Amino acid sequence: MAVSLEHPYPDPDDAGHWLRGNLHTHTTRSDGKRDPQTVIDDYAARGYHFLMISDHDVLTAPADYAAWDSRGMLLIPGNEISARGPHLLHVGASRRIDPFPQRQEALNAARNDPGSFLIAAHPNWQEAFDHTTIAQLREWTGYAGLEIYNGVISRLPGSPYATNKWDMLLAQGRRVWGYANDDSHRDVDVEQGWNVVWVAQRTAEAVVESLRTGRFYASTGVTIDRIEVRGSRIRVAASNAHRIAAMGAFGKRVAQVDAPELEVDAESFPDHRYIRFELWGVGERQAWTQPFFITT
Ligand SMILES: [Zn+2]
Ligand SMILES: [Zn+2]
Repeated sequence: MAVSLEHPYPDPDDAGHWLRGNLHTHTTRSDGKRDPQTVIDDYAARGYHFLMISDHDVLTAPADYAAWDSRGMLLIPGNEISARGPHLLHVGASRRIDPFPQRQEALNAARNDPGSFLIAAHPNWQEAFDHTTIAQLREWTGYAGLEIYNGVISRLPGSPYATNKWDMLLAQGRRVWGYANDDSHRDVDVEQGWNVVWVAQRTAEAVVESLRTGRFYASTGVTIDRIEVRGSRIRVAASNAHRIAAMGAFGKRVAQVDAPELEVDAESFPDHRYIRFELWGVGERQAWTQPFFITT
């Protein structure tokens, strides 16, 4: 049976830029230890291309950013909807959304803020790994994805990773993206997880749109050099990866190599709704592609 693939990535030869950035950053405007300019300076010095300050229930708007020196980075307006429920990042926000205890109301409100979108933050934070439950993620509609990696949870109870919940949603047919962010509150939290986004033009609006539509991969240190799709074949290459695996429904590994390149043919996995790739480098460094949806 012939299968076809739907996926968010550009043709490798399309003219554009891959930009690296973090969407989850706290400052002294909420519970972060450092003032906004110090935080901006730190990320810029590390070569980041974009940054979103996401203080708890405090919107950082373009007018706020205008008071600081961007150091050449694209600065994305946003906040973290935090009080009274599971945390949600509001990316590309033009206004603050109230932390409605019924989070679906916040999700509905974001629909009225065109171009913006919401990400479920650190789903596996806390002792029962249930800051956001799979039941909530299944019930909610209108969010773009979840943090499959959140750096600050490395020093808090729970897991920084949430690919388990991602695979459960994807296997159910939900089209949600996986994001990696620092959630930095202090200097030690910086440069743990980031997103590498493809844009045709270097603007904050283009970055937000590519993040909303899945034109990015998530990383904690592995750099993907090439993502190539030809018919039903997908090739992923990363020179600093030691292992690459292709995951199908519910996270089942359908292919794996200890090499910096893996090519699979989705024809071989017609009973999986999707294939996604995980890459490992030295230490705990990883990268995650977005899913390639298989349709028959
Ligand atoms: Zn949070
Ligand atoms: Zn946070």
